Amino acid sequence: MVIPYANEPFTNFTLPENKKAMEDALNLVAKQKGEQYPLVIGGEKITTEARIVSINPSNTQEIVGSVAKADTNLAEKAVQAALKAFSTWQYVDPAERSRYLFKATALLRRRKFEFSAWLVEEAGKTWPEADADTAEAIDFMEYYGRQMLQYQKGMAVTPLPGEQNECHYIPLGVGVVIPPWNFPLAILTGMMAAAIVAGNTVIMKPASTTPVIAAKLMALLEEAGLPKGVVNYLPGSGGVIGDYLVSHPKVRFINFTGSKEVGLRINKLAAEVAPGQKWIKRVIAEMGGKDAIVVDKEADIDEAVSGIFASAFGFQGQKCSACSRAIVVKDVYNAVVAKLAAKARAVQVGKANDPSVFMGPVIDETAYNKILEYLEIGRAEGKIAAGGGKAGEGGYFIQPTVIAEVAPGARVAQEEIFGPVVAVIKADDFDQALAIANDTEYGLTGSVYSLNRENLEKARREFFVGNLYFNRKCTGALVGVHPFGGFNMSGTDSKAGGADYLLLFMQAKAVSEKL
Ligand code: GLU
Repeated sequence: MVIPYANEPFTNFTLPENKKAMEDALNLVAKQKGEQYPLVIGGEKITTEARIVSINPSNTQEIVGSVAKADTNLAEKAVQAALKAFSTWQYVDPAERSRYLFKATALLRRRKFEFSAWLVEEAGKTWPEADADTAEAIDFMEYYGRQMLQYQKGMAVTPLPGEQNECHYIPLGVGVVIPPWNFPLAILTGMMAAAIVAGNTVIMKPASTTPVIAAKLMALLEEAGLPKGVVNYLPGSGGVIGDYLVSHPKVRFINFTGSKEVGLRINKLAAEVAPGQKWIKRVIAEMGGKDAIVVDKEADIDEAVSGIFASAFGFQGQKCSACSRAIVVKDVYNAVVAKLAAKARAVQVGKANDPSVFMGPVIDETAYNKILEYLEIGRAEGKIAAGGGKAGEGGYFIQPTVIAEVAPGARVAQEEIFGPVVAVIKADDFDQALAIANDTEYGLTGSVYSLNRENLEKARREFFVGNLYFNRKCTGALVGVHPFGGFNMSGTDSKAGGADYLLLFMQAKAVSEKL
C-alpha cells in the first residue's frame, strides 16, 4: 500500500530542537570539508588527477570539497556503463523501480539537516532556502515514484472484439542529466529520479560549482541499493564532456536545466545525427526567465511589496522563477518603490550559515562580476532606490538592489541577471502593465497583485507564462501542486513536478493480439 502523496513540510527553525539539529549538521559538514570524491561509473569509484574544487561562496578561502573530473575517455566509459545497466533496468518492474526511490526518500528524510547543511556551505543557501531545497528533493522522489505506479497501467485503449489490445509505456534509453547549481539537490534529484523510475539509465553531470552535494546524492542512491550503472556520477567540464555526451550516438535524451545559451546549444548539438545513431534525441530543457510581478492600482500594497521582496531576493535572486521586474500601475508606483526600497535597505547580507541572515552570497566569481556589471548598467538605465553594490568582503556578497524608473526595453528589464536585482517599471494602467509583462522572450513565472476580478481574469487569459500566480510571490512552486516550467525561451514547456512529466522519459508501445 502506498500512502497518499503530501509535500514534505518545511522546518520551523524557531523551534530549539530544529535549530540544534541544523547546528549539529553544520558541525558534521565542517568536519568533512575538503574531502575528495571520486567519479562513480557502473558502480566503480574512479579518481582522476584533474579535479574540480568546490569553494564556499560565503567564504572564498574555504574548500568545501573536491571531486574527480572526467575526460572524454571516462565519459565514453560512463555511456557504456549506462548502456549495460539499461539492458536489464528497462525490464525491472516499474513498482520495483519506484521502491528504490521510496527507499532513497526515506534515507534523505532521515538525513535532511545534513543535506541542508551541505546546501548552505556549497551553494550559499540560507537555512530556510536550503531546507526548502531538500524538501523539494524528497517531494520529487516521492511524487515520481507514485506517478510511475500510475503509468504502469499503460494508456487506455478502446476494446475491439476478437483482439486483445494494450498500450504500455517503455523507457527511452541512456540519458544525460545536466542540472543547474541553483537547486543543486532538488532539481538534480528530480531530473534524475524521473528518468530512472521510467526505466532509463543516466549519466549525471553535476554543475561545477556544486559537485559535492551531487556526490552526496550519489552515495545516498548507492545506500538505497540502486543497481550499478543506473545512475553514473560524472563531473566534468561542459565544453568537454558535456558536448561529448550530448553528441554521442548512443545517448537517447538530454535533460537539462540552466541558462538559455547553454540550452540552445544543447538543442542544436542534439539535433545533429551522429554516425550510428538510430533515433531523434529528445531534449528536455528548462531555461531562464525574466519574471514579472504586476501591481494593479487596486491591490494590497504591503502584500505586493512583500511578494516582490521575497521573489526578488530569496536565495539572492538566483532562481529562474525570481521576480526581476516589478511592473506597477502609476497610481501606486511611488508607494511601492518607497516601501520596497525600505525593506531592501533593512536586509542583512552575510554568511549563509548564520541563521539571522536573510541573504547569503551569490554563487561564484563569474556571477558576482556579472551582477556587479549589471548594477552599473542599471545605474545608467534607471535610478538606484536601494542597494547597488557589494555587501561585504570574504564572500560573493551583493546588496539587494532596487532600480526604479526603468524603461520596459532597458537591458536590466530584458536580460536575465540572476542576482538580487529588481527593475521597477511604471505603467499607465493595468492593460499596459500586462503588455509590458509579456514583452520579453521568456515566459516562465509571473504574478499579479490585484483586487479587481476583471483584471485578474484578463491576466489569467493573457499573461503568457507557465506558472502564473495571483496575490502571492512568483517563486516556491511545490511539487504536485504547481507543475513547474515555462514557455518560449524559458524551455521546452515541460512541467517538473507535474503528472505528465514522466511521459517525457518514455515512449508508448501498442501491442495487439488476434484472438
Ligand atoms: N521551482 C523553483 C521555484 O518555483 C525555481 C526553479 C529554478 O530556479 O530553476 O521557485
